[in-house]
Amino acid sequence: MKQLFFAITFILSLTSFGQKKLELKEIDLNRVMKDIVYSDAGDDQISILYWIPDVYWDIMSAKDPRNFNAETVSMIKQLLENKSLFFAVSGKMNSTTHTFDAKEESYLRSNISVTFNGKVYKPMTEAKLSEEMKMLNDYIKPVFSRMLGDMGSGLTLFFFDVNDGNGQNLLNPYSDTDFSVKLCNVNHTLHLPLPCLYSDSKCANDGELFPANYEFCPYHGSKLITQ
Ligand SMILES: [Zn+2]
Repeated sequence: MKQLFFAITFILSLTSFGQKKLELKEIDLNRVMKDIVYSDAGDDQISILYWIPDVYWDIMSAKDPRNFNAETVSMIKQLLENKSLFFAVSGKMNSTTHTFDAKEESYLRSNISVTFNGKVYKPMTEAKLSEEMKMLNDYIKPVFSRMLGDMGSGLTLFFFDVNDGNGQNLLNPYSDTDFSVKLCNVNHTLHLPLPCLYSDSKCANDGELFPANYEFCPYHGSKLITQ
């Protein structure tokens, strides 16, 4: 019964959003990264934030089945148990040594939070993580660290449990309920659904394409056409 209820709410949330959902294979990885990574270099503090929704693993698997086979993906999802995964790094460039001084994990932990529907969530404490979750950390942290070079060493993985009381993860990249993440000096809103998962919207005036989570053309003010 519970599952049926979820299925219905899922369908309803989809129909409220008109754009065509892309097949996993059609999704552009560069755009995925643009949608899930946020960086800020204000006040000489650099902060980088990744949100890794479950669908990320499905996209990787569709694109690169040799490195991300279905088994690996289902294992990762099982480990996550509907928790949300974020990577965060924050710190300053040291002007003398020209290296990156990353904030420690404990500092990041007390300075990161997720706000969903007005409720503020803190990351799960180390003590609450399963052994498998800690293993996942060891397994995927190096992959993301490498992308950031020098800054990668300060990258820390956080699990958030933002659920609806029935264990269903509320941070859903296909839903249209935004949420925000605060990391040190940065407060970033994720405008959902993630536009990389849908075809672009088109302006009726000149045909210019905009991300699917834009409702109106920023130049003409007219309502964009879903396609
Ligand atoms: Zn326009």
